[in-house]
Amino acid sequence: MSSETRNSESYVEKPKTLAELREGIASGALKAADLAASYYERIEKVNPRLNVYLSLTKERALEQAAHVDEAAAKGNPLGPLAGIPVGIKDVLVVKGAPATAGSRILEGYHPPYDATSVTKLEAAGAVLLGKINCDEFAMGSSNENSAYGPVRNPVDTERVPGGSSGGSAAAVAANMAVATLGTDTGGSIRQPASFCGVVGVLPTYGRVSRYGLIAFASSLDRVGPFAANVRDAATLLGVIAGHDPKDATSSLAPVPDYALESGRPVEGLRIGVPAEYFGEGLEPEVRVAIEKGIEDLKAAGCTVKPISLPHTRYAIPTYYLVATAEASANLARFDGVRYGYRSKDSATLADMYRHSRDEGFGAEVKRRILLGTYALSAGYYDAYYLKAQQVRRLLAEEFLRAFAEVDAIVTPTAPTTAFKLGEKTGDPLSMYLADIYTVTASLAGICGVTVPCGTTKVGLPVGMQVLAAHLNESTAFRVARAVEAAQK
Ligand code: GLN
Repeated sequence: MSSETRNSESYVEKPKTLAELREGIASGALKAADLAASYYERIEKVNPRLNVYLSLTKERALEQAAHVDEAAAKGNPLGPLAGIPVGIKDVLVVKGAPATAGSRILEGYHPPYDATSVTKLEAAGAVLLGKINCDEFAMGSSNENSAYGPVRNPVDTERVPGGSSGGSAAAVAANMAVATLGTDTGGSIRQPASFCGVVGVLPTYGRVSRYGLIAFASSLDRVGPFAANVRDAATLLGVIAGHDPKDATSSLAPVPDYALESGRPVEGLRIGVPAEYFGEGLEPEVRVAIEKGIEDLKAAGCTVKPISLPHTRYAIPTYYLVATAEASANLARFDGVRYGYRSKDSATLADMYRHSRDEGFGAEVKRRILLGTYALSAGYYDAYYLKAQQVRRLLAEEFLRAFAEVDAIVTPTAPTTAFKLGEKTGDPLSMYLADIYTVTASLAGICGVTVPCGTTKVGLPVGMQVLAAHLNESTAFRVARAVEAAQK
């Protein structure tokens, strides 16, 4: 059983809250430049063990910190993230910094522009520390698919941090950044946040611009924040959310003050608990922790209601058809010509394509391209891809019906706590099952927050997933905040 023992080597350290840091910076008691320097020291110390950062953006960070200090000294208005050190998952582009997406195929690629979420963070005063390790092209649930080596879980270095945004979760858990950005296509923010004991947000599809995101599966990909507490995660989302003329899929809906909303009481909220998320495969200690979290919500004045989401059982095959089909199309652009890695010594153009892709992509990415190409091929399109789209619609409708009766749905974020490095690498199917509770919301386009909800006997974190209807992040934050407040 994966949660029986835990090694004693721990790198867990809680960052100060945004409010504390911002106050220090605004009053001049804390210099953004010193704060950035202290984070680089911490990174230098622990990165060799945890393998979180792939590259650092020191020059840019120190320049931004100096701007913030200057503004603070002059008494100029400061942004909501003034001087806050943040890290960026290496699937989002930062001008001039290497963008690897955890893949060899992008080796040497230095994008000439910034992702919109990165631009927005900096405009709010954030200091970008560097680019963070992840599974190759965000495909994975353990961060073991990175071409640059796995990330270790700061809670227990023999365990995975989850994936694909494993580095982004580990960075916050180990205080190597106050907050980070990750991406979630099928669980890649929520599952690692739960494995590392931090807060992670899956914004509604379209809530956050994806301009500058290296695409995996475009009908599913979302950008979202990680932070050490719910309020800070809400503040981050408020900064990066909103319409972007550079991303036609971004929503025009106005952006609420999520941080403020997250503090509203939960009394009277109706919480749905779907039976399908508490069945076979759920680790007993995870169940106990989530049941305790549900009791805490009752004590805070919520009404808890059992619900049923019967199509949940089709979610994994549906997700792995849609995601791989879209991945096979998105990854066709990596041909050795336009970006990064190119195989040497190919006699013909076709050989150059073939060798570059063969040498540049890792095993899991190749597996996905093969599966996806098959699902889209003429003879199988109707049987696989089209069928998956139909089931996807049913899943989404099921959630819509549920949200007519409840304000939020709570589930375990993952069926287990963090598993050991190497435990699932030989068995892709068991790795895919790690996403069983997260892919549903991905397919439905709804939003959610994962919040730490107790630990197992040996101290491994458990995460509760709080789901809410499209564009109702505020409710998810409120419920998550209530769970967080009840933790000791
Ligand atoms: N683990 C899932 C996968 O491998 C989810 C990945 C993600 O959300 N980017 O597809």
